[in-house]
Amino acid sequence: MELKNFIAGEWVESGLQAMPIINPATGEQLGTVPLSTKTEIDVAVQAAKEAQKSWALLPAPKRADYLYEIGFKMKEKKEHLAQVLTKEMGKVIEEARGEVQEGIDMALYMAGEGRRLFGETTPSELANKFAMSVRSPIGVVGLITPWNFPIAIATWKAFPAIVAGNTFVWKPSNETPMMAYELAKIFEEVGLPKGVANVVFGTGPTIGTAMIEHPDVRVISFTGSTATGSKVAELGGKHLKKISLEMGGKNAVIVMDDADIDLAVQGIVWSAFGTAGQRCTACSRIIVHRDVKEELEEKLLREMQAITIGDGLDSKVKVGPVINRQALEKINHYVQLGKQEGATLLTGGRILTDTPYDKGFYFEPTVFTNVQPDMIIAQEEIFGPVVSIIAIDSLEQAIEVNNGVRFGLSSSIFSRNVNTIFKAQQLLDTGIVYVNAGTTGAEIHLPFGGTKGTGNGHRDSGQAALDVYTEWKSIYVDYSGTLQRAQIDT
Ligand code: NAD
Repeated sequence: MELKNFIAGEWVESGLQAMPIINPATGEQLGTVPLSTKTEIDVAVQAAKEAQKSWALLPAPKRADYLYEIGFKMKEKKEHLAQVLTKEMGKVIEEARGEVQEGIDMALYMAGEGRRLFGETTPSELANKFAMSVRSPIGVVGLITPWNFPIAIATWKAFPAIVAGNTFVWKPSNETPMMAYELAKIFEEVGLPKGVANVVFGTGPTIGTAMIEHPDVRVISFTGSTATGSKVAELGGKHLKKISLEMGGKNAVIVMDDADIDLAVQGIVWSAFGTAGQRCTACSRIIVHRDVKEELEEKLLREMQAITIGDGLDSKVKVGPVINRQALEKINHYVQLGKQEGATLLTGGRILTDTPYDKGFYFEPTVFTNVQPDMIIAQEEIFGPVVSIIAIDSLEQAIEVNNGVRFGLSSSIFSRNVNTIFKAQQLLDTGIVYVNAGTTGAEIHLPFGGTKGTGNGHRDSGQAALDVYTEWKSIYVDYSGTLQRAQIDT
C-alpha cells in the first residue's frame, strides 16, 4: 500500500521520496509512506485555515455530531483497526483493541463536550452590566504524534481540537502512518467537511519544523521524546506559538512492606512488559521495601516465566516486538551500561535472534536488581522491556527515589495502609498516581500528562485538553445606557 497525504478532503500524491513501512514482528514490508515537503504543509495549512472559518461558526453540538459519527465508525471497524495497529506497531492484539477503544471513548466523550464547552458568568462590579467568559477556538492547530499509541494519542488531540472549532494538520510518526491513513479514511467516510482534518506524512525535522514555523499554525500539540519536545518548544517559543508537550517518563512502582505482593507483581508485569515496555507510562523502576525485596523478586521471576513473546497477532502472546532495529540497539546499549554500572542482571538482557524471532525486533523481558537510584539505567528512559529494582527502607526514601528523576509522568504505590497511601499521593510529584495498580491504565475523561521533563503544564484528555485548543474570551455587556467605567464608577 502506497500511502498518500489527506489534504482538503482529497488523497494527494506527494513527496519525492517514500519510506518503507515495516511490520516489526516479521520484518515484512507493509507499504510505503511518502516524505512530504514544506510545500505540502503550506497547502494543508491553507486548506485548514479556509475550512476553519465556517467550521468555527457551526454550532458546537453540530460539530459534535461528526465526532459521534467518527466514534461509531471506529466502533464498526474496531477489529480491522486493531489488526492494522498490531501489524504496523507490534503491540499485542488485546492491547491494540484497547487502544482503538480508547479512541472510540475519546470521540464519544468529546462529542459530549459539544453540548458543554462551559464558560463562566460572573456578576459585574457595575449595575446593569453583564459579564461572561467563553471558550473560543484558536484557529489551525498542528498535531505531532509518536508511534507507540498511533491512534489513541491522535484522538486525544484531534477530537478536542475540532469540537472546540479548530481545524488541524496532523503529522503522524513515520513508523505508524497506516493508523493515520485509517483515521483519515474514517474522516472521509463520515463526511467531515473538507479541510477540517488534514494528514501530511514526512519527517519531523522537515515537515514538523515547517508546521511549527508556519505563521497560520497557532497551536502545536506534541507528544514524543523529551529531546524532540525541547526542540519543538524552542522553535515554537521563538515563533510565539502555544505549545503543548507530552514527553518521556521514568515511572516507578513503589512496593511497601505491607503490600499485597502477588497483586504488585501482576501490576508490575503488566505495566513493565506490556507494549514491550514502550508506553510512556511503562514501569521502568520498582522501588521496593527491603523487607519484601526477596519475596517480590522470587514471585516476579516466577510470573515472568509465563510470558510468551512473539507476533502480537497470536492471542497467546503477551509481549510483542519493539518498534525497529534502532530501538533494539538502544535497549541493548542500556542493558550493557547497567551491567557496567554494577547492577545485577536477574533475568533477560538479550536481543532474541533465534527463529522465529530473527526476522523481527525482539528483546527479552529484563530485570536488573541492586540498582542504585543514580545509575543511568535508573535515570534515563530506556523505552523497552527493562525494569530496575531499587531497595528502600521507608516511605520517605521511596518518595525521594521516585521523585529523583527528571521526568514526572506516572507513579504507583502498593500498600494496605491508608495513611501511607494518602501521604504518598500527596508527595509523589507525577501527573498521574495509581494506588494498588501498575503505572498504566489512564482513563480518557481524566487529564493525562506529566510534570518536570515530561510536560510543560498542559494536559491531553479530560476537559483539561480543551484548555490547549481554546482561548478564553471575556465579554462585558453594558445595558445601562450610560458610560460606566470599571474601577472608577464603582
Ligand atoms: P520522537 O520524539 O522521536 O518523535 C515524536 C514525533 O516528533 C514524531 O512524529 C517525529 O517525526 C516528530 N519529530 C521528530 N523530530 C522533530 C522535530 N525536529 N520537529 C518536529 N517534530 C519532530 O518520539 P517517538 O520515538 O515517536 O515516541 C516515543 C517517545 O514518546 C517516548 O519518549 C515516550 O515516552 C513519548 N511519549 C509520551 C507520551 C506522553 O503522553 N507523555 C505518550 C506517548 C509517548
